[in-house]
Amino acid sequence: MHTPLIELSAIRKSYGGGDAPEVHVLRGIDLSIHAGEFVAIVGASGSGKSTLMNILGCLDRPTSGEYRFAGDNVATLDSDELAWLRREAFGFVFQGYHLIPAGSAQENVEMPAIYAGLPAAERHARAAALLDRLGLASRRGNRPHQLSGGQQQRVSIARALMNGGHIILADEPTGALDSHSGAEVMSLLDELASQGHVVILITHDREVAARAKRIIEIRDGLIISDSAEDNPSAQHSAAPGALQAVDLRKRLTQGAEATGAWKGELVDAVHAAWRVMWVNKFRTALTLLGIIIGVASVVVMLAVGEGSKRQVMAQMGAFGSNIIYLSGSAPNPRTPPGIVTLDDVAAIASLPQVKQIMPVIGQEAGVRFGNLDHLSYVGGNDTHFPSIFNWPVVEGSYFTRADEQNAAAVAVIGHKVRTKLLKDVANPIGQYILIENVPFQVVGVLAEKGASSGDSDSDDRIAIPYSAASVRLFGTHNPEYVAIAAADARKVKEAEQAIEQLLLRLHNGKQDFELTNNAAMIQAEARTQNTLSLMLGSIAAISLLVGGIGVMNIMLMTVRERTREIGIRMATGARQRDILRQFLTEAVMLSVVGGLTGIALALIVGGVLILSEVAVAFSLFAVLGAFGCALVTGVVFGFMPARKAARLDPVTALTSE
Ligand code: ADP
Ligand code: MG
Repeated sequence: MHTPLIELSAIRKSYGGGDAPEVHVLRGIDLSIHAGEFVAIVGASGSGKSTLMNILGCLDRPTSGEYRFAGDNVATLDSDELAWLRREAFGFVFQGYHLIPAGSAQENVEMPAIYAGLPAAERHARAAALLDRLGLASRRGNRPHQLSGGQQQRVSIARALMNGGHIILADEPTGALDSHSGAEVMSLLDELASQGHVVILITHDREVAARAKRIIEIRDGLIISDSAEDNPSAQHSAAPGALQAVDLRKRLTQGAEATGAWKGELVDAVHAAWRVMWVNKFRTALTLLGIIIGVASVVVMLAVGEGSKRQVMAQMGAFGSNIIYLSGSAPNPRTPPGIVTLDDVAAIASLPQVKQIMPVIGQEAGVRFGNLDHLSYVGGNDTHFPSIFNWPVVEGSYFTRADEQNAAAVAVIGHKVRTKLLKDVANPIGQYILIENVPFQVVGVLAEKGASSGDSDSDDRIAIPYSAASVRLFGTHNPEYVAIAAADARKVKEAEQAIEQLLLRLHNGKQDFELTNNAAMIQAEARTQNTLSLMLGSIAAISLLVGGIGVMNIMLMTVRERTREIGIRMATGARQRDILRQFLTEAVMLSVVGGLTGIALALIVGGVLILSEVAVAFSLFAVLGAFGCALVTGVVFGFMPARKAARLDPVTALTSE
């Protein structure tokens, strides 16, 4: 005597209880089904047939009673093992077909094999062969709404057979079909039964039921007749090759793990995710705005911050970071600023830590050439200018020591003065310009500093001898500031300290002067920039948070809209973790698309900024960081909806609207 494949004893199922009135749908079902049987379960609508089938197919658990599958008590199996059983042992055919609307016929048929971990090539071939066999070769690429009812039902039969379909559970498979398509489906089931599949057919139609070898009648949750009891020998007329209970049990104990499934599932999940996003383009785009703006703002703001930082550093560095500036300052707000004299300058020049020293006296002054007027910075300084500021002359030459001694009216003009004021003369050398109405002869043109520093204003300057500035223009003798080049660029701090001590001594201990240097200014600038970056970063973080909530929202909506799809996937053998993985993949995909779009947007905005001459420096770190944040957002905010989907009860999901 073989162990029955399916053995139900005293199975009861009731709904409600508690507040709702209790409904007893199944009231004690005893039933054995052996390998190779073709069974019809008939009964009026509402008699509990579908409920029984859901229990048989391990989509639902009975309220009480025992269900043994191949001798094993199903109640002891966990949800993964039940999923394995649905995937490997059963094939479902529903009255409403239950195909996934977004997938093609081929994809629908392939689905159970994805969860079983069949390699892609085998999967494609097998699904195509099954569709061929069911006469749907030319309909592989069609989506369910492009197929007739009969064709959809044949697709669902192909799906049921995809993993073998040892036990076909068909719930009113012809219920929604016209008589011709219905007859086709019935002869298919007939054929399957004769090939050794167990077919359990549920119907309210006695004519349909008559095709089966065994007819069980159910009324109000109880079996009222079973043809096998009238004719016991029919029970074991299994066709040759029929799957025996023992085979399945062996396979079940071999381990419920489908190895290598994750790859196929991931491809499927990415594919499905992409499809969903594409179908709801507009909704997706709106939801992703948060992430897009978040990512784009992080990248752009960091790029602008970095760009301006580099620019400032270049500007300062262009004049040399070993330069210390000295100027008078007020020791407290009520006293006038101290004065740095040329005697001070001479004293400092003798310090060993000082390489060069240059007093500067200067201010904005009106400059005229021909009938053109221009306002420019005019500085009186000495011949150290080109070397101390690392600023060569490109036309003519710098003024000489003799010019300085004679307070000669000669000028070396900056690039901008050359292009603004003397643009019409081929050779500016030898021309006369008026500075505050005093004529000066141009002897040289400075190289373009702005080209390296990014600040073209530094080119708007004129250098004249210190003596000439003092005597001819400004009428003061003391320098406005003094530029000092430290002997060793790495020991600027020490040089500064030496100068400070010397000056304190010369100024009778009064701190009425100020020393600054570019290195310190660069550091201060960098600190400001970092604070700014932090602030921008938090703004971006907030928009990512908003984006994450958007992702969560869209995912919750998706789960609700696709509850039935989740049910179908579970019926074909998806485990909870497969569903979790799928919806998590979708959430991550959403964020990835949002992140990539954000980066693209950032590059476009950056491009526009570069065109409008804003300093922008994109960093790979910022781009990757922002993208990573978007990814994490997807995982974090997608997890809750995905878990919600995974925890759905298969029957509830299947029967949802
Ligand atoms: P059949 O498939 O034979 O038409 P069903 O098994 O679908 O019948 O349903 C049998 C009875 O169980 C019906 O009266 C139905 O109202 C009830 N029923 C089914 N599902 C639920 C449920 N989730 N909650 C409450 N009652 C239910
Ligand atoms: Mg039903």
